[in-house]
Amino acid sequence: MKRFAIATLGCKVNLYESESYVEQLKQLGYQEVDFKEPADIYIINTCAVTNTASQKSRQKINQAKTHNADAFVCVVGCYVQSDAKAQNLDVDLLVGSSNKDQLAQLIDQAYQSNEKVNMVQTYDDLQQFEALQVHQFHEKTRAFLKIQDGCNQFCSYCIIPYARGKERSLALASALEQARGLVAAGHKEIVLTGIHTGRYGHGTNDSLYELLKEMVAIEGLLRIRISSIEMNEVSDEILALIASEDKIAKHLHIPIQSGSDTMLLAMNRPYTIASFKEKVKQIRKLMPDISISSDIIMGFPGESEADVQTTLQTIKDVNFSFLHVFPFSKRDGTKAETLQNHVPKALKKERCAVVSAQSKAQYADYIASFVGKKLTVLFETIKDGYAVGHSSEYIQVRLKGDNSLLNQLVIVTAIHSDGQVLTANIGG
Ligand code: SF4
Repeated sequence: MKRFAIATLGCKVNLYESESYVEQLKQLGYQEVDFKEPADIYIINTCAVTNTASQKSRQKINQAKTHNADAFVCVVGCYVQSDAKAQNLDVDLLVGSSNKDQLAQLIDQAYQSNEKVNMVQTYDDLQQFEALQVHQFHEKTRAFLKIQDGCNQFCSYCIIPYARGKERSLALASALEQARGLVAAGHKEIVLTGIHTGRYGHGTNDSLYELLKEMVAIEGLLRIRISSIEMNEVSDEILALIASEDKIAKHLHIPIQSGSDTMLLAMNRPYTIASFKEKVKQIRKLMPDISISSDIIMGFPGESEADVQTTLQTIKDVNFSFLHVFPFSKRDGTKAETLQNHVPKALKKERCAVVSAQSKAQYADYIASFVGKKLTVLFETIKDGYAVGHSSEYIQVRLKGDNSLLNQLVIVTAIHSDGQVLTANIGG
């Protein structure tokens, strides 16, 4: 049996896509081995979000050749699509951001024919949504369903629109069919994912609202989660639906990227801090306990000490439950690369540390506010005599118990918080 190994860099969408490649290759009779082991075929699912990510992608290609100089090497994804240098890579199969739904077949054909193949399409040709296979995942309880790809936003720091092409969506009927397939395969929670998930259905007659409404009716599906949604896409009808349907997770991850209007303008983000705060107020009026988390970039070119203080104040005012904090990282080919006044690395690190500490404190306060309250938890694993899972708000909760709790949606009451995890008793 021919052996393959896969290395995945970057985001959750890449991880999702890699899972699909693994599944497809196994179905074709290939055996998966660890990337560190000798294999006949190596796949590198690349990332280009920063220059460092591209460099790491190149390193993985070199590592593959070190493990087996004669191996067949396939390089796929954002780095291949967006970086002209990638076009000259000396590998056996190059696939950009299209034809990925056929990756296993392409590998199989190219491997048999022993010819070098370049399948990279131009940016303008990246128009079709490719539905990947999604029926087997390592993580049993929760499954990811990719419903959207590409982005038309062109934030000034981001290469993704060039790497993944224009926005496009999986048709509603296919999305529902895939969701039903995941439930039939035993998954209880589905996370709707994409590059710009809130734009699902734009350009067609479908919409995220319609999809959520239809998914709520799927029998056996206990929870639906939206991986991330931009502020401008949190519509009144989506909010009303989340508030009225227990099945839809009470957690919205809304990237803010900066708490300063000056920085938002430089980043080409399409909202102001005032409008962001207004939206959050509207959300909390309907769902006071909902978790609102976010992404933030510190050290964007031109960010002053005053911008940092404004950002910290915004984080406190919005009262985010937690933040993913990233230092700005220069990416060739983006508008931000050409901006003046880049922030020194050490200062970026310092600013990230300050914001991360604030985020940690806010998360501890947020989860402590649930002590004495009821939560609905979907249990996923057993550890040290406790069943561990996530609440609707994506808080990790543990409850003394055994395997019988796995894959069950259980109402619990939180009795203790250690700042990161809640301990609970069964019942409301
Ligand atoms: S919305 Fe902005 S940050 Fe997100 S993928 Fe599109 S361009 Fe990149």
